[in-house]
Amino acid sequence: MSIQVQGKKDREVGDEGTGLIRGAIREMAGYVPGEQPSDAKIVKLNTNENPYPASPRVQEAVARASERLWLYPDPTARALREKVADLLGVDAAGVVVGNGSDEILTLLLSSVVDPGQTVAYPVPTYSLYDSLVAIQGGVAERHPFPEDFSLPESLLRSRARLRIVCNPNSPSGTVVPQSDLERLARTFPDGLLAIDEAYVDFADDSAVSLVGAHSNVVVLRTLSKSYSLAGLRVGFAVTTPALAAEIHKVRDSYNVGRLPQAGALAALEDQAWMRANVDRVRATRARLTRALVDMGYAVLPSQANFVLALRPGRSQAGVAAALREQGVLVRHFAEVPHGLRISIGTDEEVDALVARLRSLRAAGDP
Ligand SMILES: *Cc1c(COP(=O)(O)O)cnc(C)c1O
Repeated sequence: MSIQVQGKKDREVGDEGTGLIRGAIREMAGYVPGEQPSDAKIVKLNTNENPYPASPRVQEAVARASERLWLYPDPTARALREKVADLLGVDAAGVVVGNGSDEILTLLLSSVVDPGQTVAYPVPTYSLYDSLVAIQGGVAERHPFPEDFSLPESLLRSRARLRIVCNPNSPSGTVVPQSDLERLARTFPDGLLAIDEAYVDFADDSAVSLVGAHSNVVVLRTLSKSYSLAGLRVGFAVTTPALAAEIHKVRDSYNVGRLPQAGALAALEDQAWMRANVDRVRATRARLTRALVDMGYAVLPSQANFVLALRPGRSQAGVAAALREQGVLVRHFAEVPHGLRISIGTDEEVDALVARLRSLRAAGDP
């Protein structure tokens, strides 16, 4: 058996004692996150982090919070939940804060899905869903997106206990209209609809208003992307107070530390800072899209902080590997062989990527 150790070669490990591990876990592959290199000179366009730092108020708040580390954090992150409620016009009792929205996804799966039960989502999408369904012993019902990445009609007929729509979707960057999400919530009220809005601040519309109108909707948000806080690990769910009360039972009482709670609150209090960075990212997104289209890539309309550049008929695995050799990381997925998912960096980073892509092309592409 071999495990993938990031940035290193596979390391061989034995399987002594693993008979005690649940079958579902032994049989699954495990989620593989994007590479996190230690070399700061690398142009890192592979994991959709924000290229700009968070509000300076975050560091001040974290420093202040670090003066009282002998105390446990607020178990329900009340100040943070009230700030979220205030910003989004929702009930604070329906907000659950997590150690990143990845933890919220874990909480959702473990509170909703019994072994053998079905979870449905369009694909390709965030591959962590596959891993979490496997951990739970659930069954993934994968609905292929049509070529234009509109909502698969088959998802409207799904009777899965939990349906997840990532909107904007990764790795496509595309959105499905709010009216489709509303139809999903309305046409199957006996199933839960989770809408993963990790990238929503880079987009035009949010589904948060569905939470007030339907009793079966959970919206997931994160501070990792738009608020530049991937390293702090804070995300949250917005749902009904009744569902939130159930999810809280599954959550560790102290799942979000004092420092993340304080930093996240400060970030949410500085909306102008986040908005300015989002505007810059959106401008660079338009500029990168033009450059890629000039080079002959098909670029799906993105409302996220990344684009999916497609070259039909040509695997992009070699291009991603060649870029990596030259110190530029982008993401290539086996599920989208002809595509490169490119995070929006600074204008300089994006220019460096485009220059390398052009010279690879001139040399006849790997
Ligand atoms: C980045 C991302 C998340 C997770 O964000 P964290 O809050 O950092 O855990 C969730 N869903 C999608 C689709 C993402 O891209």
